[in-house]
Amino acid sequence: MTTVQEFLKANDAYAETFQKGHLPMPPARRVAVLTCMDARLHPARFLGLQEGDAHIIRNAGGRASDDAIRSLVISEQLLGTNTVVVIHHTDCGMLTFSNADLHGKLRQELGANADHIDFLPFKDLEQSVRDDVATIKASPLIPDNIEVNGFIYDVRSGKLSPVT
Ligand code: ZN
Repeated sequence: MTTVQEFLKANDAYAETFQKGHLPMPPARRVAVLTCMDARLHPARFLGLQEGDAHIIRNAGGRASDDAIRSLVISEQLLGTNTVVVIHHTDCGMLTFSNADLHGKLRQELGANADHIDFLPFKDLEQSVRDDVATIKASPLIPDNIEVNGFIYDVRSGKLSPVT
């Protein structure tokens, strides 16, 4: 069975007992979580979230990229969230390369020039959280009354630690 076939099988079982079809669109907990796409992170589980509770915005690193800001604006302005939680994590892949590394790999393997793209890698985990919290707070598209919190998730212990 291919992975996609496995997905369809799992989804059949899921839909069979599904009982959350009545939920409203705005998140009940009024929160948006920005975090990494890392496969080891299961934000709903480690934050105790149910369907309908929160927006989870994920990308490589959980960075406050222009597209993450786009989602946050929609989350806040159109769907009523008032809190942002930025969560980066230990052993993140974004700590393992530089823009120059990836630009070089793309040139070598695909013949593509991506030198204009900032893939937003980082060298200092705590600082990356501080930077993204600051980027969100400083954005003219994010109102001052939005609370923005930063955390690091430890992939070994499953624990969150605040970054101040
Ligand atoms: Zn990561």
